Amino acid sequence: MESKIKEFMNLVKERNQFEPEFLQAVEEVVETVIPYIANHEIYNGKNILLRMVEPERVLMFRVPWVDDSGEIIVNRGFRIEMNSAIGPYKGGLRFHPTVNLSILKFLAFEQVFKNALTTLPMGGGKGGSDFDPKGKSDGEIMRFCQSFMSELFRHIGPNTDVPAGDIGVGGREIGFLFGMYKKLRNEFTGVLTGKGMSWGGSLIRPEATGYGTVYFAQSMLETKEDTIKGKTVTISGSGNVAQYACEKATQLGAKVVTLSDSSGYIYDEDGIDADKLAFVMDLKNNKRGRISAYINKYPNAKFFKGERPWSVKCEVALPCATQNEVNESEAKTLLKNGCYVVSEGANMPSTPEAITAYQEAKILYAPGKASNAGGVATSGLEMSQNSLRINWTREEVDVRLQKIMADIHDSCIKFGKQDDGYIDYVKGANISGFVKVADAMLAQGI
Ligand code: GLU
Repeated sequence: MESKIKEFMNLVKERNQFEPEFLQAVEEVVETVIPYIANHEIYNGKNILLRMVEPERVLMFRVPWVDDSGEIIVNRGFRIEMNSAIGPYKGGLRFHPTVNLSILKFLAFEQVFKNALTTLPMGGGKGGSDFDPKGKSDGEIMRFCQSFMSELFRHIGPNTDVPAGDIGVGGREIGFLFGMYKKLRNEFTGVLTGKGMSWGGSLIRPEATGYGTVYFAQSMLETKEDTIKGKTVTISGSGNVAQYACEKATQLGAKVVTLSDSSGYIYDEDGIDADKLAFVMDLKNNKRGRISAYINKYPNAKFFKGERPWSVKCEVALPCATQNEVNESEAKTLLKNGCYVVSEGANMPSTPEAITAYQEAKILYAPGKASNAGGVATSGLEMSQNSLRINWTREEVDVRLQKIMADIHDSCIKFGKQDDGYIDYVKGANISGFVKVADAMLAQGI
């Protein structure tokens, strides 16, 4: 089996030499899926994985725009249409200076499995730009979004490809993108998700990724007749996912002690309660400030410059910032300090070595493609509401979200439960997602 995996990875490496993040995501999937294929006749000899690692379409385009000083800036835009076997391409747009083909292909690949896990009919895609929204004026953001959409619009549509937000793309950007799409196409459709409430958005969509990550942690704890109530929780990040993970964990009786951004993390041993979180939300969402400002308002808290929060003692860790933000030694520090639940709100935040450390210690560990699927799942619910031209209430959406997260947890158990009772959520998520997409691909021919 080892040699089969090696052989396959060599082939993928040859074709994607300069794409380390993409190779990392593929390797994590094939390590569990290749042995499954070997034991299941219908998937044998069909080269399904080889087809899955090749995007159906890769779009790269120029995004020229004019900044406030009148200078012409040129960014690069991307959309990876990875797999449409079970539905239209679906996945976010990321605006961040680190964005490149490798990162977007890894995200698009993960998205295929994640979307399949949600039980909703969505294929996988991802896009974005190396544009850095940090420090830009509203006018600059708008002009960039308009330029980006003036190319992207011809490739997307409510039944073709439905983008949404990701890092650097929130409600404001979705608004500018939607406005431009509407001008160019002269149609009002659910072509993007994460829209504002008065123009087709869904209640709970902003909260969904963070809430879902906590619901998933709860489900994992329930397998041990345990609950998140009373637990100390560390969270990285301070954007949309981290904020609502913090809110839900606190609502369920946990004490969240950290949040972070690229400049460092804050530690508040008294817990980041609803009032403090409201301050963080205003700081990050409206004032676009740095998390370090927290200690000016709450002097009991400490700020650790340039560090990540993984040396803080906790039972539950929720990495909600970005890829590869927990390495092997940080994972081991978490374990040494008594952490036994890791539920990922970000995409691929743990390195392969960190994942091995969690699994060897047999803690409750959920990969992002399972635990953070609540965001895209609620995007799927937004698409349904748009098609039906109705709006569900907050309760209706939340009940559906909770059911989807519970179903994802069940399918991880179905495909990931080991003989000794340990639940391998990586294996469970990968195989469950694979089976759904592979069956559709087989049915639809070459
Ligand atoms: N960017 C989110 C994710 O990583 C959400 C995508 C969506 O809603 O389409 O899943």
